[in-house]
Amino acid sequence: MNSKFERYPGLTLALKFIGHILLFVFLTLLTQIGGVVYLLSLLLAKRLGLKARRKKVLAFSALYLLANLLIVPLIAPLFGREKMKEFKVVRAHSVFYKLANRNYVRPELNKAITAIAEDFEKRNEGIQLVYLDANFPFIDGFPLLPHLSHNDGKKVDVSLVYEKEGKISNKKPSFSGYGVFEGPTDREYDQIAVCKKAGKWQYDFPKYLTFGRINRKIEFSAKGTRDLARRITRQKEVGKLFIEPHLKTRLGLKSQKVRYHGCQAVRHDDHIHFQLR
Ligand SMILES: [Zn+2]
Repeated sequence: MNSKFERYPGLTLALKFIGHILLFVFLTLLTQIGGVVYLLSLLLAKRLGLKARRKKVLAFSALYLLANLLIVPLIAPLFGREKMKEFKVVRAHSVFYKLANRNYVRPELNKAITAIAEDFEKRNEGIQLVYLDANFPFIDGFPLLPHLSHNDGKKVDVSLVYEKEGKISNKKPSFSGYGVFEGPTDREYDQIAVCKKAGKWQYDFPKYLTFGRINRKIEFSAKGTRDLARRITRQKEVGKLFIEPHLKTRLGLKSQKVRYHGCQAVRHDDHIHFQLR
C-alpha cells in the first residue's frame, strides 16, 4: 500500500481494516473457526514482531492446522458433535471437507453412516460411502453455507454411485463432489424446469461449483444408487432422504422417508441428502 495511498494514512488504515473484516467473514463462513484463528494469528504476528506477509501466512496456517487437527475435535463433543468416522468404507470426497471442519455430525448420525456403509459394502464389495458437506462442529443454528439446513449436526450429503463399463466404481464425476447432474430424460418429470420457471434461479446454481469435471468415462449407476438409497432409508435413525423427483421415480424408491426438498433449495440429482429424525 505505498505510492498513492501513503499520502492518506487514514484511508490506508480504513482499507486495511475492511480487508481484515472481509477475510474474517469469508473464513468464518467457509470453516466456522477460520475467522477467529485469523484474529489470533494477527495477535501472534504482532507479539512475535512478524512483518513479512509470508511469515504471517505461515503463522495463520500453523494455528489453523493445530485447531483443525487437535483442538476442534476435543471441543466438538461439548456441542454434541463429533468428527465423521472415516475408515475402509467411509471417506470424504475431498480433504477440503475435513480441513474446513465440514465433517462434524451427531454421534447417532455417525453410527447410522457406519451401518449404512457396511451394509452397502457387503452387497457391493470394495465400494465406499463417499460423503460431502455434513455440519460444522459448533453451535446449533450456525448454517454451513450454501446449505442452510446443515446447522444442527443431523444432516449429511453423500455422492451418488457411478459405474465404469458396467461395474460399480468408487470414482465420482465432479472435483468438488457437487454440480454434475444426472438430469431428467425427455420422458421424465422435470422438476428443475418447474423451479426455474418459478424464478428460483439458485436451483441449479451448483453447476458453478464443480471446480472441474473428472473421470469423464464413468456413468450414473441406477443399480448402485438405488441400493445405497435403500440402505439409507432402512436405517431407523434416518428421518428423511432428499433426491430429485425424477431419480426417485427412476430408481423406484418407495420409502415414505424419500421427500422432496422444495424449490427454495438446490437440485438433488448430483448428490443425496439425508438426516436424522
Ligand atoms: Zn444436504
